[in-house]
Amino acid sequence: MSLRSGMDTACELNFKVVGSPLGSIELSACRCGLHGIKLLGQNAPEDHPCVVQRPPEELPEPLACCAAWLETYFQTPAAIGTVPVPELHHPVFQTDSFARRVLWKLLQAVQVGEAVSYQQLAALVGRPKASRAVGNVMKNNPVPILIPCHRVVGSGGKLGGYSSGLAVKQWLLAHEKGAGPHQGTRTDATPTRAGHQEAPTQAEYMKSG
Ligand SMILES: [Zn+2]
Repeated sequence: MSLRSGMDTACELNFKVVGSPLGSIELSACRCGLHGIKLLGQNAPEDHPCVVQRPPEELPEPLACCAAWLETYFQTPAAIGTVPVPELHHPVFQTDSFARRVLWKLLQAVQVGEAVSYQQLAALVGRPKASRAVGNVMKNNPVPILIPCHRVVGSGGKLGGYSSGLAVKQWLLAHEKGAGPHQGTRTDATPTRAGHQEAPTQAEYMKSG
């Protein structure tokens, strides 16, 4: 296995489908990390038990890590901060770009039960006028749920868009609000981490594996 992580390195992808309250979710990863989370369900979410059904066979590490992360997220979202986040290796994470800064900031700064507006997220990466560009990044987020683009909403209480449909976005936000009391998660829609500057850079994060 090559240890080079440049975009020219061909990644051999493994795919796994896990069950979830939102229907089937397809995970893809190379040996270096996760490439994608894709919600395959066409139906609006129902009252399924919050269980992630993992395939019985042993999964490669990034897939196993992501399945475990999803399992905790759906079962006890309040505890999600205690679960390791899989390494990310989709090409968007391999070189510096506006998209990567936005996705990375969102993952770091907007926790379970919180929400930010597109404009607030743009401001968090130092581009307060780039809310439309932030919307585009959200639309192309390769790892939804894990990088919580559902927590990015329109200003003035509008829900904004969601690639898997607004019913899913609403379900996720409601699911997380239910988590609030267990860990003191804020349930109002304000970015509470906006002032944090000491969060690790993606490079620091990426080498931790
Ligand atoms: Zn890869």
